[in-house]
Amino acid sequence: MTGGIAEVAAYGAAGAAVLGLAAGGLAYASLWPTSQIFRRTLIAGENADEVALTFDDGPNDAATPQLLEVLARHGVRATFFAMGDFARAKPEIVRQVAAAGHVLGNHTMSHPRLSTEPAARVRQELAECNAALEEITGAAVKFFRPPFGARRPYVLRAARELGLTPVMWNVTGYDWNPIGIDGILANLDEGIARNRRRGRGSNLLLHDGGHCAMGAARMDTVRAVDRLLTSRLAASENGAATRFVTVDAWAGHVALE
Ligand SMILES: [Zn+2]
Repeated sequence: MTGGIAEVAAYGAAGAAVLGLAAGGLAYASLWPTSQIFRRTLIAGENADEVALTFDDGPNDAATPQLLEVLARHGVRATFFAMGDFARAKPEIVRQVAAAGHVLGNHTMSHPRLSTEPAARVRQELAECNAALEEITGAAVKFFRPPFGARRPYVLRAARELGLTPVMWNVTGYDWNPIGIDGILANLDEGIARNRRRGRGSNLLLHDGGHCAMGAARMDTVRAVDRLLTSRLAASENGAATRFVTVDAWAGHVALE
């Protein structure tokens, strides 16, 4: 966009489409095939005290149960973007995630780079992951995180057509690198502080699994989360507020990228 009247008009139309979506479902959105709505993603809200822990690439029997234990001990709910292939392999872990009150999102069946896949394959990856998760938990899936963050317009459109809100992030833990617990924590603290200065919530990208195979080593992530929760929740008792939320808390904050 280059600004001016055209931008204002496009923004206005997208705003109307968002209202239409909320009120009347996808039929209204289909009237706007080129609408900016398909470029919109959910990142975070405007309350700097709110932090969402999000975990991609699970379920993983080498880390997800341990992570669930840590979250339960701290009384915190998180958002899990699960892969359908792994969910079908470990449905009992997916059931535990849902039973503990965490939000389950769609991270495709097999983690392809969607921006280089044909539209039909994109749609199939999303629809099959929805079906896998919904068969296991009995609950509708509402959120989607694109693998590698790839979000071409037709990817986001396919997600919308399945009733999924695409979710990005604004803090990266870089926990797929061998940086240890301290390295992960430093990335999270730095990102949260940066967002706080800008007056916005923090959406933390972490991984309870690895997309290449079941059994990825993610215990550094689990321990970093344990330490983050210990320090932040203790600080909250002393007046420095941090409130851990799931991404559905920000459903009204879908933003243009
Ligand atoms: Zn992933």
